[in-house]
Amino acid sequence: LDLSKIRNFSIIAHVDHGKSTLADQLMRFTNTVDARRLEDGQQILDDMDLERERGITIKMRSVRMNYMNRNENYQLNLIDTPGHVDFSYEVSRSLAAVEGALLVIDASQGVQAQTVANVDLAIENDLEIFTVLNKIDLPHAETDKVLKELEVVIGLDPKDAILISAKKGFGIDKVLEGVVDRIPHPTGSSREPLKALVFDSYYDVYKGVVVFVRLKGGRLRKGDKIQVMSSKSKYTVEEVGTFTPNMTKLDKGISSGEVGYVMCGAKQIGDIPVGDTITLSGEGGAAEPLPGYKKVKPMVFCGIFPIDGDDFKKLQTSVEKLKLNDASLDYQVDSSSALGMGFRCGFLGLLHMDIVIERLEREYDLSLLCTTPSVTYRVVQLDGSIEELSNPSLIPKDLREIQEPFVKVQVMLSPSKMGAVIDLFRSRRATLLNTSHLSGERAQLSFEMPLVEVITDLHDSLKSVSRGYASMDYQMSDYRPQALVKMNITVAETEVGPLSTVVPRSDAHRRGKELCGKLAELIPRHQFKISVQAKVGGKVVASDHINPFRKDVTSKCYGGDVTRKKKLLDKQKKGKKRMRQFGRVDVPNDVFRQIAKIK
Ligand code: GDP
Ligand code: MG
Repeated sequence: LDLSKIRNFSIIAHVDHGKSTLADQLMRFTNTVDARRLEDGQQILDDMDLERERGITIKMRSVRMNYMNRNENYQLNLIDTPGHVDFSYEVSRSLAAVEGALLVIDASQGVQAQTVANVDLAIENDLEIFTVLNKIDLPHAETDKVLKELEVVIGLDPKDAILISAKKGFGIDKVLEGVVDRIPHPTGSSREPLKALVFDSYYDVYKGVVVFVRLKGGRLRKGDKIQVMSSKSKYTVEEVGTFTPNMTKLDKGISSGEVGYVMCGAKQIGDIPVGDTITLSGEGGAAEPLPGYKKVKPMVFCGIFPIDGDDFKKLQTSVEKLKLNDASLDYQVDSSSALGMGFRCGFLGLLHMDIVIERLEREYDLSLLCTTPSVTYRVVQLDGSIEELSNPSLIPKDLREIQEPFVKVQVMLSPSKMGAVIDLFRSRRATLLNTSHLSGERAQLSFEMPLVEVITDLHDSLKSVSRGYASMDYQMSDYRPQALVKMNITVAETEVGPLSTVVPRSDAHRRGKELCGKLAELIPRHQFKISVQAKVGGKVVASDHINPFRKDVTSKCYGGDVTRKKKLLDKQKKGKKRMRQFGRVDVPNDVFRQIAKIK
């Protein structure tokens, strides 16, 4: 196979700028898919699983297209990226599998935070980037302004940009010509030892693990004995192929420069991690893996408990099943006197957490209660040893110091929103590092701040103070010692472990007061007075209470209508199911959801 006739590329963009629509059009233009399939508005290449023939669900992450250009036949491999900041490690791995990237920018929205973040990743991976200005059909498209932004904000030459409308199918031919002319062809040789970069994988109930690879050397065929370089685990290749966009077996296999999938009987996707290198086991194997493999670490943690305690087993099997297909999901059994048996789970970020919880509830039909998200704290013990704890209730009373993770945040915004955005970030313990006015309508701010302040719904607050005219992106920076204390909450003198949090010492009173106030609002009246207290090191820093109330539901029934009375009592019993017992006190199940919202 002639490498000069292969192009491997990705499409990168801020969300909604038209990545999937463009991918569909490229497949349509190259007759990879039947144009009629696109007409019902269905997107072919997307993050959702697609039902395919024989009812087998596949997750497409790359597609091979044949393209005729000036009487030459080209093989174009388009690799889709997960796109969201939580999965930036995976985005970066899929970018390591290509030579170039199409940068899609919405001509009515301009350069956004994820545009910049994605360009940074593309530059890190040494990719040829060319810009596609999309949605020029929109009446409010501001082509000239956005081209200027491209130059000032990103440093790309606006003369090289291609103007298109993915929706109307305008300019698609130019994009394909650009791919052939501007993106370098792969290098490497099939005579070298096998080096296959794993850039994605998924688990299929019928087929097992399907791994996506980009060959950077050697060749890969059915029957080959392979080895995963980080773990040294060995497999025999059962099938090699590509997506066109249906799964297509290739008997001759794939060779250096090409992209494809491999099946080898691996049981869960964690066995062949994204970013790893596959080589031949024994003779002919590569000595060194490809650069860049790292183990991803969860950053956000929360407790997940079934609302109905009897569902624990079901939750356990569901979490195990999800884990088959999500190597970054981390979990261990957790139990608390208030919430019973559940799991402490670790996620890459808030979006990842929301996706997992929603899938558990929807696909596995569970009702769940989730505790307020936390980060991993580093606790320096009295003897100087360091322990990493992601569950605040486990932080010991006596300690030397608590360190917390910090992140760097970049915000792209309209200069008119600068004041409001800076105020918001300052209220979240952020330090402003840098301000730059990039062009008339575009400014960039960068901050340093604790991760925990980002995961407590900073993104939504940013959207609301900027009325949608700001976007953000963040990366882990380091751990720093802070004046932090653990705050415990007691309800009717009973400590509620899952409500423990870590707060700045100087802010303990204010946050304690807010938390107690909110609890007093959420907890219904009982027959007795309930006190709610926030304590730091055994000392009360804030408190509130709920007055007693005699609730006799049957008093409304005059006379002796027994069935009516029974109905009311049933109703009351049902209401109780939505309650959770904290000691002697009934607390509504959504209490954690409500509390996560306060700041
Ligand atoms: P993605 O999040 O980057 O994959 O964006 P999508 O491809 O899903 O597009 C987001 C929205 O923009 C969809 O409603 C598309 O129909 C719309 N869209 C995409 N391209 C164009 C275009 O060229 N013109 C117009 N007017 N709308 C477009
Ligand atoms: Mg999309």
